[in-house]
Amino acid sequence: MKPRAFDYVRPDTAAEAIDLLAQHGEDARIMAGGQSLMAILNLRMSETKVIIDIGGHEDFKGIKVAGGYLEVGASVTQNELLSWPELAKTAPLLAKAMPWVGHFQTRNRGTVCGSLSHADPSSEIPLSLATLGGEVVLRSKRGERVLAAEEFQTGMLSTAREADEMMVAARFPIAPNLRRAAFREVARRHGDFAILALAAVADDDKSVRLGIGGLADRPVATRIDTTSKAAIAEALGTLAWELEGSDDIHATARYRRDLLRRLGPIVIEEAIACAA
Ligand SMILES: Cc1cc2nc3c(=O)[nH]c(=O)nc-3n(C[C@H](O)[C@H](O)[C@H](O)COP(=O)(O)OP(=O)(O)OC[C@H]3O[C@@H](n4cnc5c(N)ncnc54)[C@H](O)[C@@H]3O)c2cc1C
Repeated sequence: MKPRAFDYVRPDTAAEAIDLLAQHGEDARIMAGGQSLMAILNLRMSETKVIIDIGGHEDFKGIKVAGGYLEVGASVTQNELLSWPELAKTAPLLAKAMPWVGHFQTRNRGTVCGSLSHADPSSEIPLSLATLGGEVVLRSKRGERVLAAEEFQTGMLSTAREADEMMVAARFPIAPNLRRAAFREVARRHGDFAILALAAVADDDKSVRLGIGGLADRPVATRIDTTSKAAIAEALGTLAWELEGSDDIHATARYRRDLLRRLGPIVIEEAIACAA
């Protein structure tokens, strides 16, 4: 299918992009990499009348370390972050999760903030943000607000972003105790969305922070007692039932819960075994 007719605007500055959002509200959408938005438009799942293209915009570029966070600007592509030389040392979980995001070609255009804004429950970047306890920065003409990952993503393809707000940056915590990290996912083919994705951070001697993507309608991060194998198995069993999941064309909820129980101990052990 082809998209409905829309106006295309390429703002010169960040301020102009925010002005356009304020002016058009629900009728407008930011386009970052277009890797998800174009599909949404082609399938006519959106009535968008104005596309505000910030792809590659210099005002939103920038990967910086500040205030205990790795801060990634709105037009930083997934491959730009992956090829940032400090990534593995600064944010090992992201370095392990990012190669699973789509394909080299989609990562060349797809952005980190675009993936967070799109809010697919199986996506690796929202899962990493939730597991690390990160936050996003939203800007509008009314000012700026910072939302924690769990406040931002409210469900499948749904977020707490207001129509006049733009995500200007994502902040991933980088404290030294977050460096023992592991990531695993199961998908039909590498590059497909995950049937189940797991991220683990061994930030404590007696427990691990585990993130689960692809089971609930959003990524879920929780603490797992790691004092014994039995404790891990019990926690994962309880979690599988709590998150429940649902069937879709890719897999049944039962299969996803089973993956959590089987893959969970592996990813947790991997995180614990990492050198700090
Ligand atoms: C073949 C293929 C395979 C893929 N596989 C995966 C995969 O395995 N894992 C995965 O996670 N993703 C996958 N994707 C999706 C890809 O990662 C997208 O890049 C990502 O979901 C959206 O990023 P984008 O920059 O392209 O955003 P866009 O497509 O431009 O935008 C997506 C949505 O976010 C909004 N948006 C974007 N940026 C902002 C912003 N700064 N502020 C406010 N709203 C904003 C847009 O308005 C739109 O609603 C795949 C895509 C393709 C085409």
